[in-house]
Amino acid sequence: MTVLEARSVVKSYGPTPALRGVGLELAEGEVLAVTGPSGCGKSTLLHCLSGILQPDSGEVRYRGRPLDAYSEADRTRLRRTEFGVLFQFGQLVAEISAAENVALPLLLTGRSRAEARTAARDQLDRLGVAEAAESRPGQLSGGQQQRVAAARALVTEPGVLFADEPTGALDQLAGEKLLGELVRTARERGTSVLLVTHAPVVAAYADREVVLHDGVVDASGLGTGRLGAG
Ligand code: ADP
Ligand code: ADP
Repeated sequence: MTVLEARSVVKSYGPTPALRGVGLELAEGEVLAVTGPSGCGKSTLLHCLSGILQPDSGEVRYRGRPLDAYSEADRTRLRRTEFGVLFQFGQLVAEISAAENVALPLLLTGRSRAEARTAARDQLDRLGVAEAAESRPGQLSGGQQQRVAAARALVTEPGVLFADEPTGALDQLAGEKLLGELVRTARERGTSVLLVTHAPVVAAYADREVVLHDGVVDASGLGTGRLGAG
């Protein structure tokens, strides 16, 4: 079953389009890598797919329903409950503890403090950073911070996790450890993952790879099948 779908998505910031008609499908439970050189449109595509940016033309559908069929309020709720987002730099709130950071998305969706606290600790534990719960982000290593950010992205049990160069700020060993944990945790939950990266080592954790080139899907990059590391 298709969870997320882009159809002929076009998006320009100025005269030159960043996306020139992109179509792709993310299946239930699938880990899909979107790769390609810097500037090819990966981040723009991720922002269109996650409803942060509105395409100029074309359509994005979540579970068959076009995103532009949602009201503004419903789209915000969709993003909070069904989409998890992880960036290159975790963007944790510096003034509060790791556990409080992870609890935030649950508090935003109206869960009780006690419930949010328990779920946050459980999620930190799953990502192997239970010991970091009471620390503030600045007291943690880069790898720990990114695991906390991953816990925050997954704590709402989203349908889709969007990860934009999630290991970009880590050394290779820490990056691969994080990816392993991230992909395993997502698979356990049946969460689909859209992994945006320029790094082949990261793409190797995906089931399938779509290559973007200058704002379009590079047909020669299709049909590469499972890339391993399942
Ligand atoms: P990638 O993630 O593959 O590096 P981006 O989606 O960030 O690619 O960028 C695609 C193109 O759109 C690039 O030419 C980039 O300079 C341009 N672009 C991206 N974001 C903006 C923006 N906010 N304003 C203007 N141009 C942008
Ligand atoms: P990534 O490493 O994900 O490709 P970029 O360095 O391309 O990220 O872009 C980082 C941020 O800057 C994004 O929010 C993107 O939209 C914005 N951006 C990228 N290119 C431009 C540009 N030419 N003008 C303005 N903003 C841009």
